[in-house]
Amino acid sequence: MPLHGKNIIGGSLLGAGAETFRAVDPATRRPLEPDFHHATRAELDQAVELADRAFALRGSVEPAQTAALLERIADEIDALGDTLIERCGQETALPSGRLTGERARTTGQLRLFARVVTEGSWVDARIDRPLPDRTPVPKPDLRRMLIPIGPVLVFPASNFPLAFSVAGGDTASAFAAGCPVIVKARPQHAGTSELVGTAIQKAVAATGLPEGWFSLVHGPGRTTGLELVRHPAIRAVGFTGSVDGGRALFDAAAARPHPIPVYAEMGSINPVFLLPGALAARADEIAAGLHQSMTLGVGQFCTQPGLVIALDGEGLDRLLAALGRRVEETAPATMLMGAIAEGYQQGVRELEATSGVELVARSGQAPDPQKTQAAAAMYATDAKTFLAGEVLRREVFGPSTLVVRCGTEAQMLDVARSLGGQLTATIHAAEDELDEHGRLVSILVTKAGRLLFGGFPTGVEVCPAMNHGGPYPATTDAHFTSVGTAAILRFARPVCYQNFPESRLPAELRDENARGVWRRVDGVLTKEDVC
Ligand code: NAP
Repeated sequence: MPLHGKNIIGGSLLGAGAETFRAVDPATRRPLEPDFHHATRAELDQAVELADRAFALRGSVEPAQTAALLERIADEIDALGDTLIERCGQETALPSGRLTGERARTTGQLRLFARVVTEGSWVDARIDRPLPDRTPVPKPDLRRMLIPIGPVLVFPASNFPLAFSVAGGDTASAFAAGCPVIVKARPQHAGTSELVGTAIQKAVAATGLPEGWFSLVHGPGRTTGLELVRHPAIRAVGFTGSVDGGRALFDAAAARPHPIPVYAEMGSINPVFLLPGALAARADEIAAGLHQSMTLGVGQFCTQPGLVIALDGEGLDRLLAALGRRVEETAPATMLMGAIAEGYQQGVRELEATSGVELVARSGQAPDPQKTQAAAAMYATDAKTFLAGEVLRREVFGPSTLVVRCGTEAQMLDVARSLGGQLTATIHAAEDELDEHGRLVSILVTKAGRLLFGGFPTGVEVCPAMNHGGPYPATTDAHFTSVGTAAILRFARPVCYQNFPESRLPAELRDENARGVWRRVDGVLTKEDVC
């Protein structure tokens, strides 16, 4: 399937702009055909105006149509077959096995949201019946539910070119909430983005939704991205990337005359705490799991364990030796793009320049910069150095980890207290040790969006109970998750109807519960009609 390199603006393909770029194969550093056109200001306005007009028609979009859209997008992505995997592999250097799995996660996520929309209870309908005879003041009839927020702008992640990208979790959850979506494509994944964007464009047409329900535009974040964030008709933003990028967009959104939410998932170092009982029983096993988690996907996961904290002793020595051997045996591998590889090099240089930080092990082979490669590495320091060095608490995005040796439990707790917000925090402990170290759990619960007992933080299940979020700087809003069905809540807002005639209420709030959703009637969860 030849790529056209144009912007997808509703039902049209537009490329009036003179500025073009090409995606680059990170494994060879060669540009890939074709040229892609940056969207012009007029094209951006057209995309947002179409989305705004489409949203004005939302009353005529039934949940069944939204579910059909999500299903159809999944089918269209499946129909792209190997074309998608091949192009995505060229643009990211990710192996086809990983991409095939990520495609299944993407389509599975879309189909999961279709089921959420069909079932319908996510709107959290609440009905409080009136008490006209109440004294001294009668109680009105109050009915509340969630409604879509409006056109959503999505900035895809660099590290999940399918599952957190054009048809990824942000787009799927925004569509599921009933919002039109505009995606600012990643230049590195321009071809992959076009293929998936075309699948969505076809699905929008096939399910009879207004054309403005979806657009895909190309251009730099600092111009195109910011112009879109500032456009008055954009109502919310989904983002995954760096703290600097997320914060720039968040600040721009907050400075608008009419501020809007930016749900940015950003940096996390995902601390792993190893208590002595766990190390005594399983130091080698923990080293193997930690190595796998820290080097998976060349360490390019937001849940990569970049920090390990343990009490000094024989167990920790065994872990360091076993992990060190594995790190040395790890071959350098190609990262997603030059900027990420350079960011990783800079991060490890900063670690190495910090007095009191020791390099314990590094990949035995040197990385080839012509192939955008990174070498795995493990560093160690003591708690005092860690607590003094702000730089040691920064995310180093790639296959390295820093081990902090603590002399006492009090030091371990100080290290935990010093951490910023995290997506995850992990504790390895013998079961009875957790009682002794209850304070550690109490601290970590204030820091992280997901707490793990045993295991490793990479591998984020897409399901109703998942929370992929956390206090700043892990995200800009710790109330929400960007993975799992609860992600839909980011793109909805509550509205309450007071004393409204039955005929003017949405189906979910009428006396007869024709949609069969769970509702809270006078505080009690039920599917019964209101009588
Ligand atoms: P990024 O640089 O933050 O880029 C993400 C998006 O934001 C891109 O679309 C980018 O535009 C845009 N952007 C960046 N800076 C901006 C600014 N000042 N104003 C407006 N828009 C801006 O993230 P990345 O390229 O994915 O990766 C870089 C670093 O992000 C990594 O090294 C890593 O530290 C971190 N990262 C974290 C996660 C996570 O989940 N925690 C995931 C991926 C990356 P362009 O399209 O023009 O680039």
